[in-house]
Amino acid sequence: MSYIALGSKQKIIVVGNGMVGHHFIDQLNKANNNDFDITTFSDESRLAYNRVMLTSYFTGNSANNLALATSQGYDDQDVEYFLNDEVIAIDREQKNINTASGKTLSYDKLVLATGSFPFVPPVPGKEQDHIHVYRTLNDLEAIENSSKKSKVGVVIGGGLLGLEAANAIKELGLETHVVEFAPRLMAVQLDQDGGDLLREKIFALGVTVHTEKNTSEIIKGENCRYRMNFADGSFLETDVIVFSAGIRPQDALARQSGLVIGERGGIVIDDHCLTSDKSIYAIGECALWDNKIFGLVAPGYTMAKVAVSHLTNTEPGKFTGADMSTKLKLLGVEVGSIGDAHGNTPHSQSYSFIDSVLGTYKKIVVSADGKMLLGAVLVGDTSDYSQWLPLVLNKIILTEPPEYLLIPKQDSENSSNIAALPDNAQVCACYDVSKSVLSEAIKNGANDVAALQSCTSAGTGCGGCIPLVTQVLESELEKITANVSSNEIIEEPFENILSERADKNTYFIFPRIPGSNITPEHLIFIGEIAKKYNLHTQISGAQRIDILGARLEHLPMIKKRMADVGLETEHFLKDRLNKNSKEK
Ligand SMILES: Cc1cc2nc3c(=O)[nH]c(=O)nc-3n(C[C@H](O)[C@H](O)[C@H](O)COP(=O)(O)OP(=O)(O)OC[C@H]3O[C@@H](n4cnc5c(N)ncnc54)[C@H](O)[C@@H]3O)c2cc1C
Repeated sequence: MSYIALGSKQKIIVVGNGMVGHHFIDQLNKANNNDFDITTFSDESRLAYNRVMLTSYFTGNSANNLALATSQGYDDQDVEYFLNDEVIAIDREQKNINTASGKTLSYDKLVLATGSFPFVPPVPGKEQDHIHVYRTLNDLEAIENSSKKSKVGVVIGGGLLGLEAANAIKELGLETHVVEFAPRLMAVQLDQDGGDLLREKIFALGVTVHTEKNTSEIIKGENCRYRMNFADGSFLETDVIVFSAGIRPQDALARQSGLVIGERGGIVIDDHCLTSDKSIYAIGECALWDNKIFGLVAPGYTMAKVAVSHLTNTEPGKFTGADMSTKLKLLGVEVGSIGDAHGNTPHSQSYSFIDSVLGTYKKIVVSADGKMLLGAVLVGDTSDYSQWLPLVLNKIILTEPPEYLLIPKQDSENSSNIAALPDNAQVCACYDVSKSVLSEAIKNGANDVAALQSCTSAGTGCGGCIPLVTQVLESELEKITANVSSNEIIEEPFENILSERADKNTYFIFPRIPGSNITPEHLIFIGEIAKKYNLHTQISGAQRIDILGARLEHLPMIKKRMADVGLETEHFLKDRLNKNSKEK
């Protein structure tokens, strides 16, 4: 057994390099990377990757694309990491851990981010080849290999993940079935009407759904590799089986080291994400807060931030619970569930709207006085999801009777809803990004969704908020564009003055350069702004620097930036011929 001594900084060991363990490391490094030595262990063969987007692996998103952490990134941040090495014991007295490969490391603070494992019911015959679970990239590789030698696939479990897995199996070319124990699909999120409609829609896609089926054994099949026998005497033949029957918190390590564990599993934590041992935090899907496990990434990220704030004493963050709204990502069927979808809040009221022609179902749950939206169910059309989620998350008082929410809206109303959203309203739950953070980034030049994603992280988790991010972007750009007053734009025939490289739908900017004297800073600035907004520059016959090709929505930002460095522009020029030619 080797003993590794770490340096004199506070020694932090993070057990598990999944999405939440990695987020913790990222946040700790951002908060303070001078006072901590960070080491992380994963029993997987890869550093953290985007598990939420796992299924996109089947549509060509490679393991590299899904990676959240890289060796280079960790090396640069001095984060020590060990892959394929399970932490098997914690000595809480000595404050050290032991790993499967024989390492012993001491810690000052230990962070358990061990996630969940897929629950596989004790069905006789489950331990055979081509029978899988759906949790890791390795699982998906194994399913892909099995499908190459198979014709029929069955997913056991008709929840959110089961349907995602069914979609994957269908896309791999197998005849696909979903077997569900409960009387309806997505029983956690949907009510009976929603579940019934979902079943019809999934059937129409060519996936057969079998509800109220309890698999009693898996034996050798006659026409396929296996035969699944059900408790009611019926059976189904299949070549591949994927269990997606729920997840359980991975609390084995915490349990055997004597930490307090919930009655039904999960490492008990307080509001600071501390376990019953004040040197050990637990975050993510392994943690049990207020008797609740959160099987989504956003609450895990919040826990990671809370643990970092407690550890660094930066701000006294507390975990206060989390929203469990979700959308089905794939399968060509739109399904969404927001907040209290089942109307469990005392005295809440619900309204529903079924359009049997379009095949859509919408239900809203509102407070007793009808003033607040508490939850919703959407099947067949989730276009309202991004409008309603902020109403629930931000407890916004409804300005109209709640049933108006169910009346189909014109598109133009969307932007006014966005405008009504308070600045501190949360838009991206995964990365806790508010409307004001997005607006600020847009003002600073992030003028498309990709740029917003890269500077705020919004929409890079589960991706469910991208429509809302897009609406905020459009609404902010509209406001910015409106700030260019019409008398700042002059229309003249381009041919007289511009190079052929100017696009007729764009604008021409000419900075004022008094006496043709220009500072190096202004020259560099013009070059940078031209690169950023993909503009063409030229020295004109009049010894001016002309900037060509600016889009209308970029003008206010360009103008502001020019003003910031002391460069003036008199007006923006638009091609008059273009207007005329359109009129023809
Ligand atoms: C297919 C799929 C789709 C999903 N879609 C969504 C979605 O749309 N929205 C959403 O919010 N969430 C979704 N989720 C859930 C989301 O992925 C999880 O909430 C998130 O990954 C939890 O992160 P975690 O770090 O707590 O756990 P994990 O990501 O499970 O990471 C834990 C890591 O710790 C490792 N580990 C465990 N014990 C040890 C040990 N003793 N020593 C070393 N390593 C150990 C595990 O192997 C694992 O790598 C989805 C999950 C799956 C599988």
